[in-house]
Amino acid sequence: MSRKVALVGIGKIAVDQHVPAIAASPDWELAATVSRKGSVEGIDAYTDFATMLAERPDIGVVSLCVPPVPRYAYAEAALQAGRHVMLEKPPGATLAEVHALQAMAAARGLTLYTTWHSRMAHAVAPAKVWLADKTITRAHITWREDVRKWHPGQDWVFEPGGMGVFDPGINALSILTHILPAPVHLTAASLEFPANRQTPIAARLAFSGTVTADFDWRQTGPQTWDIEVDTTAGMMALRMGGNVLEINGKTMAGENSIMGEYPALYARMAELVATGESEVDLAPMVHVADALTLGRRIETDPFFF
Ligand code: NAP
Repeated sequence: MSRKVALVGIGKIAVDQHVPAIAASPDWELAATVSRKGSVEGIDAYTDFATMLAERPDIGVVSLCVPPVPRYAYAEAALQAGRHVMLEKPPGATLAEVHALQAMAAARGLTLYTTWHSRMAHAVAPAKVWLADKTITRAHITWREDVRKWHPGQDWVFEPGGMGVFDPGINALSILTHILPAPVHLTAASLEFPANRQTPIAARLAFSGTVTADFDWRQTGPQTWDIEVDTTAGMMALRMGGNVLEINGKTMAGENSIMGEYPALYARMAELVATGESEVDLAPMVHVADALTLGRRIETDPFFF
């Protein structure tokens, strides 16, 4: 039997990915939306979260697609109202608030799921298996995309807590932290801040273990989401955001499509709720917090959408 879920924050990712993933899922029924401006045709629409929680005790699960800064208040209210909670990435604006939600969910016997959609990309699981017994000599991430294409007019990404280029970069870090056989830690960072903005538009990172990353939000034309790992047994590359696996230049696994990621997240949420578990992993966000702590700040050209 499908469970009822309410989707909160009907913006780009809710419409592009969550609504179709829920519609195609045997586990879930989209029972309500909560958004000040957005709605989904044919679905009960609320503009106020507290009203939805009060009027719809039949909805046991809430999926939060609002930006990271307002997300904590919604998650706290949902858990206090006895609902299981699924969080878009990044799971919060700070690490401590996610720890607080984790404790709250545990105390109430509720599921909290910090989703990382890129970990569900087609080739991530085979990449992790391939790397498990390899000796890594170097790894490099290139994550360069066009902020105007993926976040059209979304000023929140450049406000405090919006994370700037780490909003996509954290997807790469979610894959890295999942596939590496041993953890790494940040050793240096340089961050380019547009003169008129509060968050970086580009970042270069160095980690222990000869791991480096290049994140840039100014790439027009073809977009690049690559992770290349040199090992003593050859070179592994994850391309297309983790959806295609190459070993020594030859495609070994995957599919050049991101459309499997959100169905996999909702299937995982169904498992977690059914088994009464939570899944909370903050490793990708620790690296972002460290970069913002340790990073050298460089001022660059003002940015306008
Ligand atoms: P978005 O288009 O700006 O949508 C967020 C929605 O949240 C808005 O439409 C808004 O709806 C609601 N909201 C509530 N409080 C808000 C506030 N204080 N400021 C702004 N919006 C507020 O953002 P998005 O691209 O869908 O991103 C949402 C989350 O999904 C982010 O954490 C992002 O990292 C993640 N994500 C985005 C993408 C992508 O390609 N864009 C991909 C994967 C994951 P109302 O005004 O109607 O309330």
